[in-house]
Amino acid sequence: MELWYTEEQTDNVRLSLKVKQHLFSDHSDFQQVDVFETAEYGRLMTLDGLVMVTEKDEFVYHDMITHVAMAVNPEIKNVLIIGGGDGGTAREVLRYPQIQHVDMVEIDKMVCDVAKEFFPTISNELENPKLALYYEDGVAYMKGKNSVYDLIIIDSTDPVGPGEGLFTTEFYTDCFNALTENGILINQNESPVYEQFAKEAVRANSKLKKIFPEVHVYQAQIPTYPSGYWLFGFASKKFHPTKDVKADVWNKLGLKTKYYNTELHLGAFALPNYVKEFFNNGNV
Ligand code: SAM
Repeated sequence: MELWYTEEQTDNVRLSLKVKQHLFSDHSDFQQVDVFETAEYGRLMTLDGLVMVTEKDEFVYHDMITHVAMAVNPEIKNVLIIGGGDGGTAREVLRYPQIQHVDMVEIDKMVCDVAKEFFPTISNELENPKLALYYEDGVAYMKGKNSVYDLIIIDSTDPVGPGEGLFTTEFYTDCFNALTENGILINQNESPVYEQFAKEAVRANSKLKKIFPEVHVYQAQIPTYPSGYWLFGFASKKFHPTKDVKADVWNKLGLKTKYYNTELHLGAFALPNYVKEFFNNGNV
């Protein structure tokens, strides 16, 4: 008998992946956590039935949520990751020799424990001495922080359940205050293809525009995310993401990446007209 995992991406669209084995299933205080061995994408983690990370395509997301900011400001030393329980973002950030400290605030310890057990190539830096891991709500953690971080990465779930508070004006304002004068904020910013996701993307972008002087959107192809076309937000107190990219400096680091490169960096911000219109008009 064939076993399939199916994610209902919208009321009218589903993604199904053939499953070899259902490796883990439990409910934390926050969400349902499952791990599957799939035929095509290696191991898959889902939260409340939604795709979070797969071994096969995680490199796209974790490259793009990390290296774009690191190529714009090579001086980044202190980083905050909100969410990111699978450890992939922390892994990429900690590859940079100039990083002095990373705080990671993940609300659900079960996600980290499951990542350590089933995704060793993604979670392998969660014990790094430069990393401080807090099992807390990122919304509460951010309050009252002032000029502490050079980079904040919001590696969250969608704006539902525990992730909802990470998409509010109040939270983005707290992030702005927590950033240093050269601060950059990166957030996973949903997708423009399906209306429910596009509306969230535009909503988040509109809020950020009221707080940060530089707010931009960039794109990547993540096959297991709804529509496979995914967006990220780049907000900064000072830097422009393409005019200020330090490509030579980044390339001299010699970091081997499977997806990101400094030419792709420029192209990632070249959005299709329909997507540009969403963000220019502030509606979908
Ligand atoms: N790559 C995934 C995506 O794009 O949907 C995100 C991966 S990561 C697993 C998302 C993490 O955000 C989850 O581990 C979840 O527990 C965490 N999270 C959700 N809401 C949170 C909150 N308010 N504070 C801290 N972490 C939160």
